Amino acid sequence: MKIQLQAPRDEGAAWHKALVAALPAATIAAWPDTLPEPDYALVWKPPPELFVRVRPARAIFNLGAGVEVLLAMPSLPAGIPIVRLEDAGMAVQMAEYVTLAVLSAYRETAAYAAQQREGRWQPRPRIAKTEFGVGILGFGVLGQAVAAALERFDFPLSAWSTTRKDVSGVRSFAGQAELFAFLASARVLVCFLPSTRETRDLLDRATLSRLPRGAWLVNVARGPIVVDEDLIALLDEGHLAGATLDVFREEPLPPGHPFWHHPRITLTPHTSAVTQVEDSIAQVVSKIRRLERGEPVTGVVDRARGY
Ligand code: NDP
Repeated sequence: MKIQLQAPRDEGAAWHKALVAALPAATIAAWPDTLPEPDYALVWKPPPELFVRVRPARAIFNLGAGVEVLLAMPSLPAGIPIVRLEDAGMAVQMAEYVTLAVLSAYRETAAYAAQQREGRWQPRPRIAKTEFGVGILGFGVLGQAVAAALERFDFPLSAWSTTRKDVSGVRSFAGQAELFAFLASARVLVCFLPSTRETRDLLDRATLSRLPRGAWLVNVARGPIVVDEDLIALLDEGHLAGATLDVFREEPLPPGHPFWHHPRITLTPHTSAVTQVEDSIAQVVSKIRRLERGEPVTGVVDRARGY
């Protein structure tokens, strides 16, 4: 079996080592070395020339959950499956990140920090849980894992997706027709949507202003889903209480971008969930084995839908 590897960031050696250990009999080329016609390619944000030089025959594995960069490549081979990572160690990290953001909003940590700076002892009235719904925008692998982590805190949970879901303890909304009703239920809106034609600019003034007054936004999905100026305007007007942002239209976030110093924004440099080498290789290799046996695999991307 021949495999082309082009690994994320500067971790090439670790990915190569893990892949060799998992498939010792395979012939593996690590980019910029190439195998012109491998059975499989494992890639993350590949350079444009990769698929000019490498034409995989059986499948392309995306070494991340989001596939928008891959699908936008003109040289992407047609006619073979693209398989993305599903969880692979990211769900627990997302659960940590989102739980921290939701609890920080609910327990008003920013307000208490301000009171401490002022030397002011002032208990704040407890917010009723019934008024603190958490809405998960995009209810796939990661969104569902985060809902499971939040369930124990008794926040009313709702979720929005293309197709309706039957998940215990979560009110499911589906499709454009139910978006505004979903937004009205969310005091904290957590975005887990993929970046597609349909989701680009989805969170603008028209949609964000459908959230209840005093709502919070947590974006751990992709930057282009949010219209930056509209978010800032709604924070400044007081309609939104705050935002926790991990992803941005341009990354790294440019110096001077208003998000950097906005008093109601907490931001992190795209670290909410980091790809785990061992978990990812184990998942990819188990799917390669299934494909070799002629069995179906999950996580196959629908190219037309864009995720
Ligand atoms: P999934 O494909 O499992 O879930 C995507 C969800 O979004 C599905 O529930 C899907 O609905 C829903 N959806 C997609 N398009 C629409 C639409 N137009 N309207 C309504 N619902 C829609 O993906 P994951 O949960 O694995 O990952 C989600 C995203 O998180 C990734 O695409 C990636 O961009 C981002 N991510 C960010 C990371 C980070 O470090 N910040 C790390 C990992 C992922 P349905 O179920 O009906 O198809």
